[in-house]
Amino acid sequence: MHEAAIVESALELILAKAEEHQLTKIRRITAKVGELSGALPDAMQFVFQNASQGTIAEGSDFIIEQVEATASCGSCDITFPILYYHPVCPSCGGLDNQVLTGYELYIDTMEGD
Ligand SMILES: [Zn+2]
Repeated sequence: MHEAAIVESALELILAKAEEHQLTKIRRITAKVGELSGALPDAMQFVFQNASQGTIAEGSDFIIEQVEATASCGSCDITFPILYYHPVCPSCGGLDNQVLTGYELYIDTMEGD
């Protein structure tokens, strides 16, 4: 499972950061997950609950914020949401597009004490 590797390495980073800041308990973690990242929030949540057991992140709120996939058209200069992984411009039907968002996959914030 793709999500296991992602969440486990994210958790390692979180725990290292927590140690650096001398936290003894992590309360809340937010992650940004783009629609095109291929990671499923439910699966990530499941992996996190298991992987965090026995660590200072156990029982923390793991909040996944999904990021909509968007692209901008190279011809008519508009920004539009990408549907079904196909960045086709809804205005001109062009394929000369630049993906702006949707591939995010990172820990955004962490809180603890
Ligand atoms: Zn266009």
